[in-house]
Order: sequence, then structure tokens, then C-alpha cells
Amino acid sequence: MDMPQAITDKRQRPLRDLRLSVTDRCNFRCVYCMPKEVYGAKFHFLPRHDLLSFDELERVVRLFAPLGVEKIRLTGGEPLLRQNVEQLVRQLAAVPGISDIAMTTNGYFLSRDKAKALKDAGLHRITVSLDALDDATFGSINDVGAPVERVLSAIRSASAAGLTPVKINMVVKRGVNDKAVIAMARHFRFTGHILRFIEYMDVGNTNGWRLDDVVPASEILRQIQTHWDVEPIASHHTGEVARRFRYRDGGGEFGIISSVSQPFCQSCGRIRLSPEGRLYTCLFGSEGYDLRALIRDGNLSDPAVSEALSALWGRRTDQYSLERTSQTSPHSKVEMSHIGG
Ligand code: SAM
Ligand code: SF4
Ligand code: SF4
Repeated sequence: MDMPQAITDKRQRPLRDLRLSVTDRCNFRCVYCMPKEVYGAKFHFLPRHDLLSFDELERVVRLFAPLGVEKIRLTGGEPLLRQNVEQLVRQLAAVPGISDIAMTTNGYFLSRDKAKALKDAGLHRITVSLDALDDATFGSINDVGAPVERVLSAIRSASAAGLTPVKINMVVKRGVNDKAVIAMARHFRFTGHILRFIEYMDVGNTNGWRLDDVVPASEILRQIQTHWDVEPIASHHTGEVARRFRYRDGGGEFGIISSVSQPFCQSCGRIRLSPEGRLYTCLFGSEGYDLRALIRDGNLSDPAVSEALSALWGRRTDQYSLERTSQTSPHSKVEMSHIGG
């Protein structure tokens, strides 16, 4: 068989990024992601044997690379709950064609040693999520009483390990932490870290999303502009989701991810793999495509799997955010904590 070629979907979008959700479990219960009422003691998380193994994940990445995938992001659930995840990083870093491996984490388990182990294994970048700087607000969001200092310490660990620049994700939800925008901006100015404000999204069906809860990017930017003089900066590459800005006084860079108010479907080259091996060509997908059935149960050869992956991307027309209305869609959608954002 000929070598597989970089592929494009029905809207001419190339495949670039693969996001691996390595566990559906999390030690937080963020109200916009894993509300306690749903993810309580009775919730059935995936049994271990359902998760793709590190070798299976490595194989998937090896098959995706020739189709155009250069970047991998490990997410979850909480990826640091996956035992020995640095071993997975090491395996993926050795795959030819993969130039960038990143992780998104809530930071709770990111000690100095863990950050160093991840860096040594080949992790390039890390994003730590933090939604406020005061324990009352942050605790009301993570809903397990996790303190801010623990996450700030994780950011210091990442920085000390050289996983720089560290990115910080802040989901802004109206009436919950919109008052924390300025404090967060002030805290991370002049640190070299890049704070990214994220519009609250209607991922999944459990978070009770309403358009009124979304603080649009324009409003976040206006808030910041009342305190500092800022200017836009060019994106690094096509398909970058954050609009980038810098403080004119040299305070550094920040980003705003306007997934709701200004969707970026036209350049979306992301594919997502759930912990049990279902592929989603859109964050707002329902069923996904059962890749595990091909690689584990069907025992297909590499060329046959590669062909199936090309065909899946070739059929893709997704642009959910461009078509979103003010209501969350009634169709059954995969949950954020399952697919990882
Ligand atoms: N547990 C890790 C963490 O929180 O960083 C990784 C998984 S989490 C699902 C990935 C990112 O999605 C986090 O930055 C989180 O804040 C964000 N997120 C979760 N639910 C969201 C929502 N409804 N809208 C926008 N972002 C959301
Ligand atoms: Fe866990 Fe991350 Fe979801 Fe919060 S956003 S509940 S930390 S997976
Ligand atoms: Fe990509 Fe779907 Fe998000 Fe649009 S809605 S940017 S297609 S993941």
C-alpha cells in the first residue's frame, strides 16, 4: 500500500491535532463540567479494562501521524489520575512526526517531581486550569474545596520544570467568577505565564448551560481594557483557537477563546479520542466512532485502520458552533469530562 497522505475533510480542513482523553475520572466536580448531582457516588465510571492501554494509544498516534497529526494533547477527566502517565508521554514522544505534546490538568497532583518527570519524558507544554484566586469562588466552582494555593503551586512546579510558557485556563461563567477576571489578569501579568479566558460552552447535557451564563469575549476584553492598554497579536498558526493580545506596558500576553460568540469551526482540525477509544470529529458529537472495536476486537492491520481513519475524516462536515442557537441543543452530546475539551 502507498504511504498515507495528509488528509482534509469535506470542508477542506486538514487534520492537525489529536486530543487524547486518558481517563473519565476526576478529583474535582467543577460545576460547569461534572456537576455533583450527576457525578455522585452512584455514577459508573469506565472500568479499567475498557480504557485504551498505553500501547494502544501509541499505535493510534503512530497511525494518525502520517495523516497530518503533529500535535497531541493529553486531557481527561484529570489526566494526572492516569497512573504513570509520563510513561505514555515517553511512548508518544518517540512517534515520528509528533512535534508537540501538551497536557491540560487541574494541577492538583502536579508536584515538582511529577512536573519534572513529565518534562523528562518529553512533554513540551502544560495548561493548568484555574478559575479564580480566592478560595471562596474557586471552591464554589471545583465543588470539592480544592484550595487556590495548590493550583498556584502546580503552576510554579510546571515553570520550574521548564514546561514554559505555562498556560492558565479560566472558564468565565456569569455571576460565578466574572468578577475575578481583573484579579486573574493582574496576578498573571509579568509572570511569563499566558492566561486564557474561555467562554463557557454548552458541551454535554449535564451542566445546565444557558446563553445568559456566557460572558462573551468582547465583554472580557472590555473589562481588561478599562485597566490596561492592550493590543492584538498575530496567531502562531491557522487553527489557533485563542485570540492573542499583549499588554502594551510589557506585562506579557493573554488570550481569549470565544468558542460561543465567535466560533472557529472553519479552521478546526481537531479530532478527539475518548478514554475507551471512541473518536469524535467534533466536541459536540454524540456517539463517536468506535475505534477500539477495530484495533482491539477486530484486530485490524495498520493499513486497514489507517484507511478507516482517513475515511472518517474525509466524511467530516462538523461545524456545531457556527450553527448553535441560543438554546443548548437537545441532541445527546458527549460530556466534557469524558472527551476533555
Ligand atoms: N481536568 C483537566 C482540567 O480541568 O484542566 C482537563 C480536562 S478539562 C475538561 C479541560 C478544560 O476544559 C479545562 O480547562 C476546563 O476548565 C474546561 N472546561 C470544562 N467544561 C467547560 C465548559 N463547559 N466550557 C468551557 N470550558 C470548559
Ligand atoms: Fe475535572 Fe477538569 Fe472537569 Fe474540572 S474541568 S471537573 S478539573 S475534568
Ligand atoms: Fe471544531 Fe466542532 Fe468546535 Fe466547530 S464546534 S470548532 S467543528 S469542535
